[in-house]
Amino acid sequence: MKVIDWEQKVINHIDELQDELVRLCQDMIRIPSWDRETRGEAEAAHCVGKTLEKRGIDTEYVSSHPNIDNLIATWKANNGKHILFNGHVDVVPPGEDWTVDPFGAEIRDGLIYGRGAVDMKGGVACQAMAMSALHDLEVPLKGTLILNAVGDEERQGKLGTMWCIDKAWKKIKANAALIAEPSGIGRFGYAVNIGEKGPVWLKITTKGEKAHGSIPSAGKNAVTMMIKLLESLQTENPPTIPPPITREAIIAQFAASLNTEPKLLESFIFQGDEPNPLSAGIVGLTTTTMNIGTITGGVAANVVPDRCEAQLDFRILPGQKPQEMVDFIRRHAEQQGIEGDCNIEIVESFEGNSVPNYTQNPLATTVFNASTEITGPTVYFLVPFATDGRLLRRAGIESTVVYGPGNMASAHTSDEKIAIEDLIKVTKVFALTTIRYLGVKN
Ligand SMILES: [Zn+2]
Repeated sequence: MKVIDWEQKVINHIDELQDELVRLCQDMIRIPSWDRETRGEAEAAHCVGKTLEKRGIDTEYVSSHPNIDNLIATWKANNGKHILFNGHVDVVPPGEDWTVDPFGAEIRDGLIYGRGAVDMKGGVACQAMAMSALHDLEVPLKGTLILNAVGDEERQGKLGTMWCIDKAWKKIKANAALIAEPSGIGRFGYAVNIGEKGPVWLKITTKGEKAHGSIPSAGKNAVTMMIKLLESLQTENPPTIPPPITREAIIAQFAASLNTEPKLLESFIFQGDEPNPLSAGIVGLTTTTMNIGTITGGVAANVVPDRCEAQLDFRILPGQKPQEMVDFIRRHAEQQGIEGDCNIEIVESFEGNSVPNYTQNPLATTVFNASTEITGPTVYFLVPFATDGRLLRRAGIESTVVYGPGNMASAHTSDEKIAIEDLIKVTKVFALTTIRYLGVKN
């Protein structure tokens, strides 16, 4: 059978699997998997595993904690190329203000509601059903498809994807990886995310000398020192480098999907001095950003404070080092003459990374084309948040792409939801991507 015939067969079969796909997504949502004190994260992984096991697909579980079992499912261990599907089954706590049961998985007007619907039990359900569809039809793939459904992503991934990289690398090692985090961007369609920035959290401490508030010149005021430094930092943009996708490239893609002129769209997005969500998003994705998050200092109005602390969040572009942000602050401290009284500490940091030369990358282009065919307008983009993609790229799977069902704006919100139609379409994109990336024997 020709590749194109296999593709059509698989697309038809995914339509037949719709009920099973919806049920799997609902079953996963009904397992609360945010509380480390319960078995939720493990049970959600087993829920996915069972769907595959009943078909005869090999599964195994890598436990990283009494309540976390990471699933690794493998189909057709051939010598050809390997593609890895990665997704997380843990979720963030439900929070307040829901109009439905966050773990009820209620369906209303074609939408499934619940914590994890988009982030990302829906995406994992699509991956499992794409694998199931290919397996049901015994599509003669030339390579191997691996599914790794992990926990702990929302807490940085040490016991999830990172654990699997450390303990089961041979089983998940692949030529390319596809992470099913939600990547719908509203009217612009779907985003094939080829990289992400890195968060760098820094703590600045200024040290002064205490004195009575009635004779301030007898002391050295740590709070005013901090104010001087923070004001100075805001006079300059943090050091930046060219982003993996430029502002011009993003606007050109949006313009194409709206059938309009890039120049016209750019002047529309960036009109006036006030930022809007779109202009802020584009600037945020293409430059290094700085947020002054907290400031604390002093003990009482009548005491000259000897200590002040501020916490800053930088988001650095792929290719930048966290230390560059420390140097940036130090230079401003020197300019203000307070470098001797100022300590800068990296609290937590990750480097960003991206798929090199993404417009030529076999996986990125395959996902892009399949998405364009099945869902419509599709653009290359960067994820604004952190995903396990940075871990897989760093471990050696440079070709790691983030693409999955649902709107990314619905993640972590109340009344989180996903459209059943999106689940079906993205399952088809995953199946077509696998067939085209691995190839099919004649
Ligand atoms: Zn997520």
